[in-house]
Amino acid sequence: MQNFSSFKDLLNKPAKVVIVTHQKPDADALGSSLGLAGYLRKKGHKVNVITPTDYPAFLNWMKGNDEVIIYEKGGQKEATRLIAESEIIFCLDFSALSRINNLGEKVRASKAVKVLIDHHLDPEDFADYVEWSIEAASTAELVYALIVQSGDQDLIDKDIAACFYAGVMTDTGSFRHSNTTHNVLFTAAKLVGHGADPAKIAKLIYDTNSLERLNFLGFALSERLTVLEEFNTAIFAISKSDLKKFNSKTGDTEGLVNYALSIEGIQFAAVIIDRSEDVKLSFRSIGDFSVNDFAGKHFEGGGHKNAAGGKSSLSFAETIEKFKGLLPLYKNELKINFKTTKIDV
Ligand code: 5GP
Ligand code: MN
Repeated sequence: MQNFSSFKDLLNKPAKVVIVTHQKPDADALGSSLGLAGYLRKKGHKVNVITPTDYPAFLNWMKGNDEVIIYEKGGQKEATRLIAESEIIFCLDFSALSRINNLGEKVRASKAVKVLIDHHLDPEDFADYVEWSIEAASTAELVYALIVQSGDQDLIDKDIAACFYAGVMTDTGSFRHSNTTHNVLFTAAKLVGHGADPAKIAKLIYDTNSLERLNFLGFALSERLTVLEEFNTAIFAISKSDLKKFNSKTGDTEGLVNYALSIEGIQFAAVIIDRSEDVKLSFRSIGDFSVNDFAGKHFEGGGHKNAAGGKSSLSFAETIEKFKGLLPLYKNELKINFKTTKIDV
């Protein structure tokens, strides 16, 4: 952060703070927000965490979850008032105000000092203080580093550490993706030192499935997965009735895209889901093919080079056709076949 000492001064005076994170928050979005909230409360601030929408139940164990205000779930009035009255607004794990839906313009209009902490590509220029790095695998890593830089590491207790650890663990796909750097493992080790329990957190996030979710996964794997071999691409297409049939809850489709990417030789994976609002797309890639560019160019979205998302206002069937119709444009980029590529280890 460029003007770190003035940021540090800002946090040394108790203030009314709001923390907002992106819609449909994942473990990094919610974990970095609740971990930061825990820390700021210890420093004497009055802190409220606001999310635009609900989030998966497998994140409910995080300390501070009970006080989260969900804008789309009865929190409109309170969130609007808190944003207008706040003195500092932290924007965590998103790079553009459109990612927080209707809250975006309220945050923009607020007179509060705005702080952006994020690791997504193409950040929007709206904040007074910016801690932004695409080198970071997770926002949690960045928030943790800021606390350490402030000399406040002793304020990190096991609950705060667990929130940050969840963000680091999930945004690296459990320390498997190419963003698993020295700093990721160093941060994770430090967080364990502060009391985060890796086995417990992994269990809470990954191993609390409902039978319906697993049945849905089985169905999606056997009936809804298509390999487009010519383009080293695999896609899941999930209809509204599929979601209904398996009583799908928020978070039930999280991680699905990774099964498509796990097929040998596949370089580009997508999940196309017919949600009630619009058709939602989730993209993953291996290597140089940028799904951030693909999502930005064709599906009003973005994210990271190898993990991004977007949406479409076309019908479900039209969106699938549009997606398939785009692949020939990328044939050259998608031609690397990992089946025949020797990978150095
Ligand atoms: P996921 O596929 O897990 O929902 O998202 C992958 C990454 O892309 C995450 O970092 C997420 O924040 C980002 N992302 C997902 N959907 C969108 C979107 O519609 N717009 C933008 N800009 N980013 C998205
Ligand atoms: Mn993140």
